[in-house]
Amino acid sequence: MILDGKKMAELITIRVAKEVADIEEKITLSLILVGQDPASLIYINKKQKACEEAGIIVDEHFLDDNITQKELLKIISECNNNSKIHGILVQMPLPSHIDADIVLNSINPNKDVDGLNIINQGKLLAGMETIVPATPKGVITLLKKNYIDIAGKNVVVVGRSRLVGKPLSLLFLQNNATVTIAHSKTVNLKEVTKRADILAVAVGIPNFITADMVKKDAVVVDIGINKVEGKLVGDVKYSEVSEIASYITPVPKGIGPMTIASLLENVLICYQIQKRLSD
Ligand code: NDP
Repeated sequence: MILDGKKMAELITIRVAKEVADIEEKITLSLILVGQDPASLIYINKKQKACEEAGIIVDEHFLDDNITQKELLKIISECNNNSKIHGILVQMPLPSHIDADIVLNSINPNKDVDGLNIINQGKLLAGMETIVPATPKGVITLLKKNYIDIAGKNVVVVGRSRLVGKPLSLLFLQNNATVTIAHSKTVNLKEVTKRADILAVAVGIPNFITADMVKKDAVVVDIGINKVEGKLVGDVKYSEVSEIASYITPVPKGIGPMTIASLLENVLICYQIQKRLSD
């Protein structure tokens, strides 16, 4: 069965839009893009469009490739100190002359809609309530909304990035799964992935997971977004894995839209945190 991320994302967007409409203040997200990376431009456009649909105002900062780190930090500091800005997102990757860690950690944790600030990541590790990165959050939401049990399941996450693999593994653990994290140094990957009741893949290699690596009736979550000959494909070889999986997310229309919808939820959460703090 196909896990339709697009439909679920539409429902979430409608719910967020209703909540936003009920709030008198204009909820505002600062979107910061450095340079003209084509993939980043696509992601930023999608985020902008989704914000518009949900009634969230976008405060755009499209900055030149050669902006200095100091100048970028100044812009973030202004957004941090502006009470009319409720969320801040710096599109990754940043040019190599800028230290992404310093930039991410300069964002006020209460405005950190991507959940990548070290404070929010630390809270996630500690199992505290926090702002969870949008992609892993979208994965868990999609599974839960489709009534897929996570507790007690053998979950294998392939990929251990700060953005996807690590936070996703922690979320599965919080949901009482038995979690294995695989990566480029994993030996006998196939043996590991074959044990998975739920297999989540965030590697960035097109069609990397083939049917022989998947247990029959496993739930397969494909987070990868790769372009092959002008077409978007995931990290999972959909044509053959969909034959043996009980549930599978497609690419596109799977985790991509869920990520955007989860971002909208995070903007609303950031607004609510700041409202609580100012009341
Ligand atoms: P990274 O490049 O940061 O991480 C890739 C991970 O895959 C690393 O942990 C790496 O291991 C692991 N890996 C690489 N090669 C292998 C291999 N041969 N066997 C096992 N593991 C391997 O990527 P991201 O996590 O940022 O993104 C992963 C994918 O998800 C990309 O396609 C990206 O476009 C997509 N993505 C999709 C989003 C969405 O909205 N749907 C959002 C964000 C990302 P190691 O750590 O050892 O190097």
